[in-house]
Amino acid sequence: MASQREGDYLIHFLLVPLMSQSHLIPFVDLAKLLAGRGHTATILLTPRNAIRFLPSVAAKESLADSNSKIQFLVLPFPGKEAGLPDGCENMDSLPSPDFISKFFDASNLLQGPLEDWLDAADPRPDCLICDICLPWTADLGLRFNLPRIVFHGISCFTLLCSHKLKKLKVMGKLPQAADNTEPFQVPDLPDEISFTMAQMPELQLSADKKDGGVLDRFKAAEMTADGVIVNTFEELESGYVKGYRGVVKRLWCIGPVSICNTNGVGIHRGNESSIDESLCLEWLDSRSPGSVLYVCFGSICRHILATQLIELAIGLESSGCSFIWVIKKDPEVYSRELESWLREEKYEERVAGRGLIIKGWAPQVLILSHHAVGGFMSHCGWNSTLEGAAAGVPMITWPMFAEQFYNEKLVVQVNQTGVVVGVERCMTWGKEEEIGVLVRRDAVKLAIERLMGGRGEGEERRRKAREMAELAKRAVEDGGSSYKNMSLMIHHVRTLLNGIDRSGR
Ligand code: UDP
Repeated sequence: MASQREGDYLIHFLLVPLMSQSHLIPFVDLAKLLAGRGHTATILLTPRNAIRFLPSVAAKESLADSNSKIQFLVLPFPGKEAGLPDGCENMDSLPSPDFISKFFDASNLLQGPLEDWLDAADPRPDCLICDICLPWTADLGLRFNLPRIVFHGISCFTLLCSHKLKKLKVMGKLPQAADNTEPFQVPDLPDEISFTMAQMPELQLSADKKDGGVLDRFKAAEMTADGVIVNTFEELESGYVKGYRGVVKRLWCIGPVSICNTNGVGIHRGNESSIDESLCLEWLDSRSPGSVLYVCFGSICRHILATQLIELAIGLESSGCSFIWVIKKDPEVYSRELESWLREEKYEERVAGRGLIIKGWAPQVLILSHHAVGGFMSHCGWNSTLEGAAAGVPMITWPMFAEQFYNEKLVVQVNQTGVVVGVERCMTWGKEEEIGVLVRRDAVKLAIERLMGGRGEGEERRRKAREMAELAKRAVEDGGSSYKNMSLMIHHVRTLLNGIDRSGR
């Protein structure tokens, strides 16, 4: 039975994320936000992910304390049963993209053990908050008579574009073109938004097929949920939030959830930093305000060709700009090629003093919030895009896969807080090498000069980015739109719980 405070239930939420960094990180932030309001958040994790995320909450909470507001429910990952190698519990540890469907099989196999746990749980959590990528959670809600909220870690812009494309069967009506680079417009949106087929993610392309693909299963789980929360804020994409509100039963924008971490050093997010944070801050302190470009391509871009990264390295150097460049270290073969190039060319010596390379995991939110950072070159993963917006940092957009081309449009065209580096084709995640070198050094240099440079257009972009950060900060403060939306979501869950007979639970 849920506990009571001032006549209000303090709710026990069970959070069910996909085991991938860009899903786990915002889920853990969400848990912190719920706990901050006095509710209990139990997060489903697997053993290796629990070890990774323990420090993310340990500073705030003592997990050993049974009264702690953030709890971990640790269940074994059924990787072996699905044919994954030992110890592979997170998307970032898949040996190759060929294992992706096995990874999703294993994620789906979590349903059984979670049902057993819920069967035995006494008291049982009051409400589920589930990753959209785990549509089987709809069955849990039904079987245990639990309110279920779907959590989206992508933008309303993406959700609405994708919805319109599918509903109006836009792509099926397009003439077949050899290279898929003819632009087509997404109908019925607040702005004139065009894409090419080459920019469309695989999921969207398969959505028009007869069985509707994975998107149909996600959609069904979303439509039967009691509500939908999105890690965004209304002011960032108001027309699209309004548009998507017309699609689902209830929608609450509750982000940017990352802002709950912005106060300080030692905030562990996702993985342990590969650089001593105080050294990193010392380096940033030595740079002038707004002068540093931060370059990072998220948590799972691990297969970018060494030759592509060398083009980037030369572009960064020739721009003359200060930079922090985060390089992921595996798979071995590409990083070895890059490592030997960096060594033979004495690259790090050449850029010493103005270029800092982090090999592995960077404390991204900490870096973005430093006043020396004036630009963010990003692959446009949604978390990174939102973290850049929350920090008031304009972006160079370098989309690669999934919904990243949608995010580029929102940043560059709708909000005008970024410039494109000029990528035209979506690649398959994990097979980045197949597509070859897409961005040459001159394009890198040019984009940096446009973003970081002088007056006029550049200044206007920076002003808009700063304004957006103010709006983001206000959104999550008491009385702000995201703060209120979280209250509305909680109120709605309470209303549902009041209507549920919980005597037998
Ligand atoms: N991230 C980080 N340090 C890194 C790389 C990534 O902290 O070195 C975090 C980043 O702040 C973001 C998440 O990992 O919260 C990446 O999510 P995103 O949606 O941007 O991209 P994805 O990993 O899904 O490609």
